[in-house]
Amino acid sequence: MYNKLMLTADPTPAHRILEQVYGYKTFRDQQEIIINTLINGQDALVLMPTGGGKSLCYQLPSLARDGVGVVISPLIALMQDQVDAMLQLGVKAAYLNSSQSAEQQRDIEQQLKANQLDLLYIAPERLVQDRTLQLLLSVPVALFAIDEAHCVSQWGHDFRSDYLSLSLLYDRFPCVPRIALTATADQRTRQEIVQRLQLDNARQFVSGFDRPNIRYAITAKTNARKQLLAFLSSRRDEAGIIYCLSRTKVEETAAWLSAQGFVALPYHAGLPAELRQHHQSRFLRDDNIIIVATIAFGMGIDKPDVRFVAHLDLPKSIEAYYQETGRAGRDGEPAEAWMVYGLQDVMRLQQMQAKSTATDQFKRVERHKLDAMLGLCEITSCRRELLLHYFDDKSEVRCGNCDNCQIPPETWEATEAAQKLLSCVYRTGQRFGAVHLIDVLRGSENEKIKQFNHQSLSTYGIGKALNDAQWRSVIRQLVVRGLLRVDVEGYGALQLTELCRPVLKGEQSLQLRKEDFSTVSNKKSRNKTVVKPENEALWDALKACRKALSDERDVPPYVIFHDKTLHEMLEYRPMSRMELLTISGVGESKLDKYGSVFIEVICSHAEAINE
Ligand code: ADP
Ligand code: ZN
Repeated sequence: MYNKLMLTADPTPAHRILEQVYGYKTFRDQQEIIINTLINGQDALVLMPTGGGKSLCYQLPSLARDGVGVVISPLIALMQDQVDAMLQLGVKAAYLNSSQSAEQQRDIEQQLKANQLDLLYIAPERLVQDRTLQLLLSVPVALFAIDEAHCVSQWGHDFRSDYLSLSLLYDRFPCVPRIALTATADQRTRQEIVQRLQLDNARQFVSGFDRPNIRYAITAKTNARKQLLAFLSSRRDEAGIIYCLSRTKVEETAAWLSAQGFVALPYHAGLPAELRQHHQSRFLRDDNIIIVATIAFGMGIDKPDVRFVAHLDLPKSIEAYYQETGRAGRDGEPAEAWMVYGLQDVMRLQQMQAKSTATDQFKRVERHKLDAMLGLCEITSCRRELLLHYFDDKSEVRCGNCDNCQIPPETWEATEAAQKLLSCVYRTGQRFGAVHLIDVLRGSENEKIKQFNHQSLSTYGIGKALNDAQWRSVIRQLVVRGLLRVDVEGYGALQLTELCRPVLKGEQSLQLRKEDFSTVSNKKSRNKTVVKPENEALWDALKACRKALSDERDVPPYVIFHDKTLHEMLEYRPMSRMELLTISGVGESKLDKYGSVFIEVICSHAEAINE
């Protein structure tokens, strides 16, 4: 158990714990003030993006204050890993949930009664049972941490009715400070948390939503598989998530990637629970697994070293995109959010919305959200700027870490092309979809053209200057800009809208984004902590050492050390315990457990180089 007595004489106990237990040198952002708020017995509401470092905000004050810190989390599957990680740091942590046997539960309760625990993770339904409450009332409690606090929101998609009962903490434990944490952005959810958890007196800490280490890139879909392969070609040894809309596509993509030599595992709600569990735990335990998943995969995955999130289908809102891409790079190391999207995606989502049985008001909201997402796809200026602006977060213009900042897209004078397309839509009676319209414009000679006698139209063959992909790009951009509408009931026929009038009349010119269809290669700058060739042998040895230790202990590799810690070892080559302690992520407990093994690896490579 962490020795609390050691701290009493120290004027800044928080710093000392940070160094000794976690091996970190400085607090991030608002961590220190949040931690001190709790140490002083006040409540806090914390909004911090994924990877911001929320856990430390309740773990550390639990160590500094007398009694056990009780962490309420809906994610039972994660408790084991969280507890493992704390045990590695020498913190006495445990969890209580329905996955345990009665005997295991009794054992934990005994430890609790004996005041032997620093941290206790517990599911909300368990906490509110009378038995648990009585137990907690009989021991000193350092604080209550309510993780994923947005689960109280009845409007959100993560709503848990058990969370509503958590307001009883306020009545039953009036003297115990509470901290509620979430990564969910909007103002309404925040108000709901305050109101439902009775946190009116809580200090609110709202961090920005920027994830500076994530690089955003969105490309027009030409050949999704080829594009994906090019993207993955330099990422063979990295863990990542690939999102697809449908279960079938998930399975096909995973099978296809496996055939290409990747370790790719499918995950969706239609797979048997054990298989899902198995794939998830392989993803956590090994470091080069790709999970191909529907959005059923995500909540409750806090693997810190996910290096990329790829979307093969368009998310239906910026909120969803932000949440899904946010699973990349929680460790703060460079990570990639990559997406391809095309006209089909737009049509499919619009169709889904049209068919939904929701109220008109709800549909309108959904429609606006999709439009905002499409805006993010089509924008030619900084993507991060738009993303943060969407969440009312200020940002510096041009982030330098998105595709548009790095290679500013060119635009082209597309007025004439648009006029040709629009009149072709008109002349064919607004009854046909993209494929046929392009055939007419490019003067194809197929059956359908003949059947409708479209070769006799004035627009037949007037668009040969552009190829198929270029026309699709024009159509997509006109749909997104609202000059064309997809008739969602009529099998995707394209129709004119009021907005196209000025363009058709020549009163308005049109600049469209130029898409480079020739390059599917991934020549864009690599956003990655690169291991220099002369360091590769040591890097591999460090990773192998970590993997062996993690297998031995049956924990994920990042629970032993994060990538960042290994990168620092590579850079500074610590060869003594004192030197190793200066590396970020090496605290006293891990120094004792793993110090000598890693020093040995580093020393043996120094010899190899000197010889
Ligand atoms: P969140 O819950 O907000 O998504 P975590 O609490 O999992 O984020 O923290 C993300 C990562 O950042 C973790 O690996 C954590 O160890 C690391 N971290 C947190 N605070 C610090 C700090 N002050 N210095 C260095 N690393 C930190
Ligand atoms: Zn940018």
